[in-house]
Amino acid sequence: ARPDERPALTLLIAAPRGFCAGVDRAIEIVERALERYGPPVYVRHEIVHNRYVVDGLKAKGAVFVEELDAVPDGAPVVFSAHGVPKAVPAEAERRGLDYLDATCPLVSKVHRQAERQIEAGRHILFIGHKGHPEVVGTMGQVPQGTMTLVETIDDVAGLAFSTEEPLAYLTQTTLSVEDTRNIVAALQERFPQIVGPRAEDICYATSNRQAAVKAIAPDSDLVLVIGAPNSSNSLRLVEVAERCGTAARLIQRASDIEPEWLEGIGTVGLTAGASAPETLVREVVDRLSQWRTVEEHTLVTAEEKMVFKLPRQLAD
Ligand code: SF4
Repeated sequence: ARPDERPALTLLIAAPRGFCAGVDRAIEIVERALERYGPPVYVRHEIVHNRYVVDGLKAKGAVFVEELDAVPDGAPVVFSAHGVPKAVPAEAERRGLDYLDATCPLVSKVHRQAERQIEAGRHILFIGHKGHPEVVGTMGQVPQGTMTLVETIDDVAGLAFSTEEPLAYLTQTTLSVEDTRNIVAALQERFPQIVGPRAEDICYATSNRQAAVKAIAPDSDLVLVIGAPNSSNSLRLVEVAERCGTAARLIQRASDIEPEWLEGIGTVGLTAGASAPETLVREVVDRLSQWRTVEEHTLVTAEEKMVFKLPRQLAD
């Protein structure tokens, strides 16, 4: 169709969206390591949960592995932004591997809080999603049996602790702000003695992206969230949109969008998880523009200025 024949589509783009400071830093660590050491540079786990990013780094010579035993002796290795259990750097040191830690500083902050609570003699109730690498990493900061995972509000009722036992709670950084608030309230009600961080550990990027999608969802007929199916913060963005009563879909690339999705749709909301690059947002806008005359609006709900320092080994 000629441009003037395409029906109009309003596109509401959320801001902030996409890359956070922790993801920017993690990718830069791999890129700088490739420059400094030359390929191959090994990366333990997907550096961030995004196929496009991972494939781009693979093309430059990064090799992604799940465990350290797949890293040959003498090769440099980067740990992903999600963080690792203490046993991982310990093993890297034992083997004399040159390792770089791309754990987001906001995840490391939770790790240090966990250590402090254990030193203070408290048992930790950790709010998070079972099996997510960040959860595995944080639980691996403290001795086994000193941290219990709480996934849902229903889990709170089943906890076998008394109101006498010293308890603390901590949270994963990429949770639903709303669900977490409810779980914390349930914990405080059952265990009045429980202590926690001043604010929950959900990071600025997660809460800003959730607030941004909340602002566009009510005016959208469909919300598209660019992100990977294993990206916790992206999945939460889909939930937030759905809770506003708007249909939402997680897509990895523009090519996932089916033309039928737009039938009867006048306004599409668009956002991207913290591990999804802006290129993928532009790609979606281009694909939608093939079918419709897109009128783009960006709704800014917060400004982000966060930048994290690189590890000392790469800083110069
Ligand atoms: Fe760090 Fe938050 Fe980004 Fe995770 S989502 S890497 S915790 S800034």
